[in-house]
Amino acid sequence: MVGISQAQPIAIMTLAGPRETSRGEELGKEMHNFMAELYPICRSITGAGVRETIRAIRKRIPLEMHEVPSGTKVFDWTVPLEWNVTDAYVMNREGKRVIDFKAHNLHLMSYSLPVRKKMPLRDLRHHLFTLPDHPEWIPYRTSYYKENWGFCLRHADFERLRDDEYEVVIDSTLQAGSLTYGEAYFPGEMSDEILVSCHVCHPSLCNDNLSGITVAVKLAETVATRPRRFSYRFLFIPGTIGSITWLAQNEQMVSRIKHGLVLTGVGDAGGITYKRSRQGNAEIDRAMAHVLKHSGEKYVIVDFSPYGYDERQYCSPGFNLPVGCFMRTPHGDYNEYHTSADNLDFVKPTSLARSYELCHAVCSLLEDDRVYLNTSPKCEPQLGRRGLYRTVAGQQEKKIPEMVMLWVLNLSDGRHSLLDIAIRAEVPFDEVQRAADSLRKGGLLVDIEKT
Ligand code: ZN
Repeated sequence: MVGISQAQPIAIMTLAGPRETSRGEELGKEMHNFMAELYPICRSITGAGVRETIRAIRKRIPLEMHEVPSGTKVFDWTVPLEWNVTDAYVMNREGKRVIDFKAHNLHLMSYSLPVRKKMPLRDLRHHLFTLPDHPEWIPYRTSYYKENWGFCLRHADFERLRDDEYEVVIDSTLQAGSLTYGEAYFPGEMSDEILVSCHVCHPSLCNDNLSGITVAVKLAETVATRPRRFSYRFLFIPGTIGSITWLAQNEQMVSRIKHGLVLTGVGDAGGITYKRSRQGNAEIDRAMAHVLKHSGEKYVIVDFSPYGYDERQYCSPGFNLPVGCFMRTPHGDYNEYHTSADNLDFVKPTSLARSYELCHAVCSLLEDDRVYLNTSPKCEPQLGRRGLYRTVAGQQEKKIPEMVMLWVLNLSDGRHSLLDIAIRAEVPFDEVQRAADSLRKGGLLVDIEKT
């Protein structure tokens, strides 16, 4: 199903209503400030930048920092050498740095080998990367698995380089060390888990990596303080090799993951894109589709494909976990992707806050979903006699439509969950849940887990 929402926004199900907009703005600003704190750090798939990022996250949520040694076999892959950089530049004859890593960390290709030599522009240019179509943007390039070195620069600056001899210095190390990742685990009543995963391996890029981190941290902060039926696991990992490493080292417990989300690119001004899990109709896929349908947001739901972020690993056939990917504009669909234009201005505080609210709404739905059994299944029970017919549920609460009561009674045969009923009745989950609560209090429903 691919669709644009036509529904009116709902004020409940933990989504912000109009009165809460200022709260959303405040939340967005706070999240954006955290992103600004992480922005200058030079991250890669290994190294000091990842550790610094994990430490910054650990100031907000309890987090374990794991170190997996270089050379460790992880399925078909090997944990790479650790890369660190202290300085890198290209200097002209006058001693001026014409390309300077210290001015912007995207100037250096990630995993560049150490270099110290003089060379003419005709040789140097084979190691320079620019974007002629966007002459003011610096591209982002990596060379993780092939030994190489390079610099990225604005095309406008490249065109100003004279045919001269340049001094090239890359003060980097590529040696045995470890791959670092962060893991936060919040036990719930059940060992069944909700997994939230995001990548932490990009340098100064905001939508691609920092927005996912920011939303995941906010979600973890909320999860930490609420009663939990599910256990929650948050992974802050380098893309691809990080999820492969985590899966290789935790294979025996992945069956506990009942629902999962990869968060990426959740801060741009575009609508929501949700990519289903490989299973296609997992509860996370249905819960997300339901929340989006009633959110008032512009959104698109796309089927799984074996390309993208870490859902590729979680949804590889040997695992086939129910893990979808929550994003806004997909990575290939915006020009700023993997360039210096994916900066603090490109990510909108309100988009961050709203992304968080939608993910939180999905977690709340999964927490509250239940399967009930109608205790009076032969013909319709008399609602009036039980004070349930056209009742006002409480002073402050909205009236529960009779139709919702009838749907809940009819489908509560021990086989349909409240989410199933909400989808079938085309009403927000929250209304179905409130109807079920009233019916349960009236003695007409019992929780099958408790029978
Ligand atoms: Zn990326």
